[in-house]
Amino acid sequence: AADKIDTIVSLSKRRGFVYPCSEIYGGQRAAWDYGPLGVELKENIKRQWWRAMVTSRDDVVGIDSSVILATEVWEASGHVATFTDPLTECTSCHKRFRADHLEEAYEAKHGHLPTGGLADLNCPNCGNKGTFTEPKQFSGLLATHLGPTQDSGSVAYLRPETAQGIFTNFAAVQQTSRRKPPFGIAQMGKSFRNEITPGNFIFRTREFEQMEMEFFVKPGEDEEWHGYWMDQRWNWYRDLGMSEANMRWYEHPKEKLSHYSKRTADIEYRFNFAGSEWGELEGVANRTDYDLNAHSKASGQDLSYFDQEAGERWTPFVIEPAAGVGRTMLAFMLDAYREDEAPNAKGKMEKRVVLGLDPRLAPVKVAVLPLSRNPQLSPKARDLAAALRRNWNIEFDDAGAIGRRYRRQDEIGTPFCVTIDFDTLEDNAVTVRERDSMKQERVSLDQIESYLATRLIG
Ligand code: ATP
Repeated sequence: AADKIDTIVSLSKRRGFVYPCSEIYGGQRAAWDYGPLGVELKENIKRQWWRAMVTSRDDVVGIDSSVILATEVWEASGHVATFTDPLTECTSCHKRFRADHLEEAYEAKHGHLPTGGLADLNCPNCGNKGTFTEPKQFSGLLATHLGPTQDSGSVAYLRPETAQGIFTNFAAVQQTSRRKPPFGIAQMGKSFRNEITPGNFIFRTREFEQMEMEFFVKPGEDEEWHGYWMDQRWNWYRDLGMSEANMRWYEHPKEKLSHYSKRTADIEYRFNFAGSEWGELEGVANRTDYDLNAHSKASGQDLSYFDQEAGERWTPFVIEPAAGVGRTMLAFMLDAYREDEAPNAKGKMEKRVVLGLDPRLAPVKVAVLPLSRNPQLSPKARDLAAALRRNWNIEFDDAGAIGRRYRRQDEIGTPFCVTIDFDTLEDNAVTVRERDSMKQERVSLDQIESYLATRLIG
């Protein structure tokens, strides 16, 4: 199963979804660049998230805050003091690990945490037992300096989560958008963490994109809203085609909750990484009134809310669904990848690779393919491609055998191929081939846009 990841990594590079970063210089470890197809898939995921979480609702609004916030924000939020990971090193092979990850891997295998702590564990790299050093806390914040001096007074942090930019803008957004709790503020954007053990392709990187929403509710109504958002988020993945057999909930044990959380449940996906079957896709947390209280206290600005109907003042509790764009993209690609068979030009069955992505996520919606490179067919096909481009991302391809061109589109998940052939010159109709069923249908040119529109919703 781990080779499925390798298959996706190589497909990603070969077809232009994801390339290793700075590869001409030998590569930057655990950093990745999104290519022409990757950026489309990633944008489609973000668009679907924004639509589901913001524009299709009247109780959520969006913002886009800075990556570098006032340093006081990270002091007040607790990140400077507690956003740390326990780092341990194997004294035998000198490889470093996160102690919590080693213990979790043990727990996943044995059903309980190691009773003797790290001393019970074998090093995943060299296999030796009991060779780990006492864990040291290591800050996950990525720091930089602003301005001409490089002393401690100029230190600034790149945000490790987008959430704090929402909390600092809570009062401003609440007033200007004239919303009352229950309501939410969403944002998407880059976050940075000084991960000790980045890896597993785009699953864990130091620079990554998040999609987060903070939903502000009346204290006492928080548990019910937590359940509501857990359902919403699960259904979002499912409705975009993710197989529920590859998803599960993981409930954070009380003693392992983040400093701000009353309850956190993660949606996990069966990534099947070497050494760990399941990995976190998204966390849905009840952050209580921790952040608003902390910022009220540290900034001197009152971030409570006056409930006019009840005639009382309270600090809202916050429910936070927090997802990662890269992880979501990897999960959708793994879930959509399949190999089946299709007849070649001589009618013989051959292996076919299909990325069965939901049409809303597919990077290319339609491929326009003249049957052959020909002075009559090509211009007609180019005109059709130009017309369809007004609505969708279209590929035009007139190179090579038609079967080979279908295969190329199947492999990148294109839902429809439209073929222009010599009959088109007579009957003004084209052949539409659907990716999954490979069924072909003749559609007249003046109907083709509406034919595709009804099948490419969203
Ligand atoms: P993990 O336990 O895997 O480090 P986390 O619990 O620290 O993740 P959160 O703080 O809950 O992660 O962040 C919310 C989401 O942001 C995660 O579910 C994940 O999708 C994404 N995310 C967090 N860290 C990274 C990273 N280093 N690379 C890519 N995505 C990340």
